[in-house]
Amino acid sequence: MTIIHNLGFPRMGKQRELKRALESYWAGKASQEELLETGKQLRARHWDIQARAGLDLIPVGDFAWYDQILEWSTLLGVVPARFGQADDAPVSLDTLFRMARGRAPSGTPAAACEMTKWFDTNYHYIVPELAPGQTFRIARDFLFEQVEEAQALGHAVKPVIPGPLTWLWLGKGDAYEGLSDERKLELLQALLPVYEQVLARFQAQGVQWVQIDEPILVLDLPQAWQDAFRRVYQNLNQSGLRVLLATYFDDLRENVALLKDLPVAGVHVDGVRAPAALQAVQAVLGADQVLSAGVISGRNIWRTDLDKAVELLKPLQAVLGERLWIAPSCSLLHVPVDLDGETGLDAELKSWLSFAVQKLDELKLLEGLLNGSLDAQGEQDVRAQRAALQSRRSSSRTRNPAVQARMEKIAQVQRERAPFAQRIQAQREKLNLPAYPTTTIGSFPQTTEIRTARRDWRNGSLSDAAYEKAMQAEIEQVIRFQERIGLDVLVHGEAERNDMVEYFGELLGGFAFTQNGWVQSYGSRCVKPPIIFGDVVRPAPMSVAWSAYAQSLTELPVKGMLTGPVTMLQWSFVRDDQPRADTCRQLALALRDEVSDLEKAGIHVIQIDEPAFREGLPLRKGDWQQYLDWAVDCFRLSTSAVADDTQIHTHMCYSEFNDIMESIAAMDADVITIETSRSNMLLLEAFENFEYPNDIGPGVYDIHSPNVPETGWMVRLMGEAAKRLPAERLWVNPDCGLKTRGWPETEASLLAMVQAARTLRASA
Ligand code: GLN
Ligand code: ZN
Repeated sequence: MTIIHNLGFPRMGKQRELKRALESYWAGKASQEELLETGKQLRARHWDIQARAGLDLIPVGDFAWYDQILEWSTLLGVVPARFGQADDAPVSLDTLFRMARGRAPSGTPAAACEMTKWFDTNYHYIVPELAPGQTFRIARDFLFEQVEEAQALGHAVKPVIPGPLTWLWLGKGDAYEGLSDERKLELLQALLPVYEQVLARFQAQGVQWVQIDEPILVLDLPQAWQDAFRRVYQNLNQSGLRVLLATYFDDLRENVALLKDLPVAGVHVDGVRAPAALQAVQAVLGADQVLSAGVISGRNIWRTDLDKAVELLKPLQAVLGERLWIAPSCSLLHVPVDLDGETGLDAELKSWLSFAVQKLDELKLLEGLLNGSLDAQGEQDVRAQRAALQSRRSSSRTRNPAVQARMEKIAQVQRERAPFAQRIQAQREKLNLPAYPTTTIGSFPQTTEIRTARRDWRNGSLSDAAYEKAMQAEIEQVIRFQERIGLDVLVHGEAERNDMVEYFGELLGGFAFTQNGWVQSYGSRCVKPPIIFGDVVRPAPMSVAWSAYAQSLTELPVKGMLTGPVTMLQWSFVRDDQPRADTCRQLALALRDEVSDLEKAGIHVIQIDEPAFREGLPLRKGDWQQYLDWAVDCFRLSTSAVADDTQIHTHMCYSEFNDIMESIAAMDADVITIETSRSNMLLLEAFENFEYPNDIGPGVYDIHSPNVPETGWMVRLMGEAAKRLPAERLWVNPDCGLKTRGWPETEASLLAMVQAARTLRASA
């Protein structure tokens, strides 16, 4: 017998039912009872799927109305004062929603809590907000109700909760400096008793195993945090419940030592990201501790190589026997629900894939294979699985000879451009721009007409010619608008793009798209990442016609707009049969050709967006440089084929640059536009201290808000920027694309921005 279990199941539903229910409730179109009912049905369905798959233990607590960390913060009664929570009352669902979104059907609106990325995934959690002297209490019963619900349905339940150290690590507050601030550990004294109460309640409910997630064990931990593990788990061990301590997303490395003699009943390890960690952890486990081996990827969508997994598990099983459990590497939150609904993928490609539902079947097969207990059906399924893997390995669809030939010589491809001083001189002569040149980040408002035209064209009800005409009309309108208000470097507006990665992915070879491959990004928002299954090729130019058309309408320079190689990689499910860096270089080569074609078509300013550049950073600082080296190399591969007088821009919409400044400079874009408006240009300090050598457009207003910025305010902000950087290297632009904005505020904001640039020029 080998226990098989799961760490978490996607909660959104196969048809994104939870999304719809949430949004109807928020919009006042559905009652709270209806929302609660949808949640209950989804949980029942998801538990049922897992039970039918043959799992021995089923997770409860992976469901969340918005985010699992927010569920936990509210259970602990951690509600910032501005939400008016009474100390002794339960935290209501609407208070939870107000914390997440600032508003809810009932209760006074207040500033929403911060949201940020969950480790190195594209999932975002709500940051726990810690007050000085924060107190804790069990303030919601929802989790216990779910346990009861699952038990009533006859399931063997394993509650899943965030560990106290991980939860504290993720927390922020005015009294604390940053993630690693040791003073947060002082809160343990008040926090641990509440954990004990929670465990006691589980125990009273007849629970045997509880999974406590401590993914911070894969991070660089300061000594005080390392030391805290023993203290915390000694405490939690008092409950009598069996604790499975779960880590995932990377190797534990030196933190393996913290597990030695740690009083927990078992440890879960991510054996997909870090196969060697399984051995390392097994070596420190005591004689009755369980090792849960996560050997089915919870992060990617490729079918598992079961034979390879068995090979990895066999030596562990030899030592551990029934103390070896198997599971997905992490919660399946990060993969789509069910491959079954995909009718648009061809049979071969589909046979290579595995979504959450299929992963559970793989788990069951793996158990059978490991223990030699497969039935006839199982034998057949394993054979099919092997055949699928073989087909993927040998398929000509994953390898393109032309790409392979080019990759072999990639070391010789030119990545150097002339020195910036020489380039900028040539660009100034060619473009003839005023001081403080103005531009935008690319997209203009995506109106209903634009979306309708795209949809009709996709479903065939609008002809190619009619669609082209509709898009050209949009481009013309955007060009005339920009001319009218006096912008200096224009854009075509990106009306043809539904999404900045999907648009290019659909025009490249090696990409596939799903119909329902949704993954939760945050709250009710889901994304449908493309799948990169094969060598990336560009059969034809992708953006040239639109940009050239825009340029044909005006004497002013039009900026071509592309999505960078790192961002394309980062926001896709990436093939696992070659290093990510190689896939990224293939993307870079495709973009390099696109850049050259844009240049040939008379586009002399080209922007390559890299909003996901920073997201790719590995979890451990020691691994950063290796990533940065290839990421920078890919950007340079994309951009370096142009003449000196072609100006390369890049855009990154985040604000922490301090720790990667050297790499940002090494990208060697002629102009970088960044987000700075929300912090009054303080963020430019990184660029100042580093003496960033090229041009910069610090975003002068926040496009995430519908508010129209005042000219005087933007002039002051640019004045701040000019104190830090030479004025002749400054650009004036919003802090991101305008696609989510409406036209009225866009027009007013850009007018005010152009006015600000004129004021700056006049006073220069
Ligand atoms: N060019 C893109 C746009 O304007 C950039 C989007 C982004 O930074 N995420 O929409
Ligand atoms: Zn942006």
